[in-house]
Amino acid sequence: MQTARQLKDILRRIDRKGYKAYKQLEGTFNFNGFTLFVDHVQGDPYAAPSALRARIELLKTSIPKRALDNGERTLATEDFLTRLFAFNCGKICKGIRGTGTSGLISIQKTGQEILKRSSVVLNNEYLEFRCYASLPARGRTILGPIAESMLISELPDIIKLSSNFDSSITNRLTLHADIYEDYCALKSSLNSHGLVAFIPDGAILPRKSGINEQPLKHSDGPVVPFRSPETLKVTIQAPNKGPVSGMGIPRGVTVIAGGGFHGKSTLLNAIQKGVYGHLPLDGRELVATAGDAVKIRAEDGRAIQDVNISPFIRDLPFGKGTRSFSTENASGSTSQAANIMEALEAGTSLLLIDEDTSATNFMIRDDKMKAIVRKEPITPLIDVIRSMYEDHGISTILVTGGAGDYFNVADTVILMEDYLPEEITEKARTTLKNAEIPFRADPASLKRSITLPSPMKGNKEKFAAKGHASLQIGHTFVDISALEQIAEVNQTECIAFLLKQYNDAMASASEPMASLVERIFQRFISSGFRNIKRGNLAVPRKQEIMFTINRTRGIRTSKKEVMGETVMSDG
Ligand code: ADP
Ligand code: MG
Repeated sequence: MQTARQLKDILRRIDRKGYKAYKQLEGTFNFNGFTLFVDHVQGDPYAAPSALRARIELLKTSIPKRALDNGERTLATEDFLTRLFAFNCGKICKGIRGTGTSGLISIQKTGQEILKRSSVVLNNEYLEFRCYASLPARGRTILGPIAESMLISELPDIIKLSSNFDSSITNRLTLHADIYEDYCALKSSLNSHGLVAFIPDGAILPRKSGINEQPLKHSDGPVVPFRSPETLKVTIQAPNKGPVSGMGIPRGVTVIAGGGFHGKSTLLNAIQKGVYGHLPLDGRELVATAGDAVKIRAEDGRAIQDVNISPFIRDLPFGKGTRSFSTENASGSTSQAANIMEALEAGTSLLLIDEDTSATNFMIRDDKMKAIVRKEPITPLIDVIRSMYEDHGISTILVTGGAGDYFNVADTVILMEDYLPEEITEKARTTLKNAEIPFRADPASLKRSITLPSPMKGNKEKFAAKGHASLQIGHTFVDISALEQIAEVNQTECIAFLLKQYNDAMASASEPMASLVERIFQRFISSGFRNIKRGNLAVPRKQEIMFTINRTRGIRTSKKEVMGETVMSDG
């Protein structure tokens, strides 16, 4: 191990030299109060920034003991410290000083969700920040004095402020952990209350804008806090906050109806994000949803490989089979059917569907249409939605402003009016009976083994996130913009990271995709980030990993046994 003084000497020596000389920084340096690991030095000023870790003995930090009480509090504390470090970067780091992003010190960017992140590792021995520094240059010439200011002065100040803080910050940290612990408790008690989702009274659901996930504020316009109808009110005990009252959505089929612009989609969006905890003051911090809930939408244009969509679609033109349906270019209805079947394969107890993003012909077929159109391959969702619940235990929360027939198949009907819910189950029911068709999913078809396309790009393997909504595997780009429950780019990074492990494991097994992902995911979760030195990961759900695999063009599938019709290919 070298000293901070030696780091300074290196920087003085390589001043004005070519960029490659920065490689001499790779190593470990002992600073006053922390140890700095320079794990990776970037190749040029435009490359991804250099990766650093700063480790501080736990005893030398002001992290309260309670932060390590349990896994939930530790996770929330790590999330909080990531945000604190980012805040202090903004305060201390002098910003871009040279070519590219020269001069920046950063840590992974966070959003409104509290997630398990690789940016901070906290345990009984130490606190470790995994951060990034864009080593400064003018062109390719090293700017030694700026690097010295960054690494010898700014970085230690940021680390000090982020590990030794006053009681006002400790209080915020404790609140962050309290709220997350309460959220986790609410979420895990849903089942025993017979619920699939819970929205507390007082929650603020609307967001600032379609591209800004921050809560709508009174200064932006009128905001209506959530208030449960009396008939759906549930009170759940939270460990820190005590009793929390709000609207419980029971298992079964729930329809959220209402006029346009009355807050239906806003409610459903809050529910779909309720699989994660949120920041204090987010407004949705205690909204809790069954952790395996999946948003289902139409996604025309996506590729589908070997999915049995026959519970919804049969007898396509020219006898194209649907028990093993593949296409490079799905329609609205076939994509929505495949999305549901893949959700079942991934393991889900709750489907979330918004009419706004659904294929109408997948959702419903009215009597006039039935009379005129004789060749209709689609069994609309409305005909099987009850059987999905009664025979398979899969609940649905469905938003609709147009398809009133769904009232007849609903266990619960909620009317949104002026952003407030009212329960109208009895009122909405009519005597009209709906055709109820049993939903039959062939279990073998939900056990596809899936091989990814080659990850080779040149002579290197490539698994990389390309922003929040796409990914690269070798030469193949995967569009995952329809996966609305991916909260941030760090989760996409993590999916790419785990796809490599999936690919390695798949080379030696032919296990069904869902169980292989499950196994890799569990191993990853239980080993934590201590030995994974990258700072840019946030843990997604196993579902999103599987859904990414499903969307990859060029995957190959096999199944143990598919009886019946032959597999037909496109074209
Ligand atoms: P719908 O899906 O019923 O057509 P949306 O959920 O899209 O309606 O909401 C319409 C608009 O109302 C959005 O701009 C949304 O941000 C806003 N909004 C939703 N809920 C609230 C609320 N509780 N308070 C204030 N504005 C809200
Ligand atoms: Mg809407």
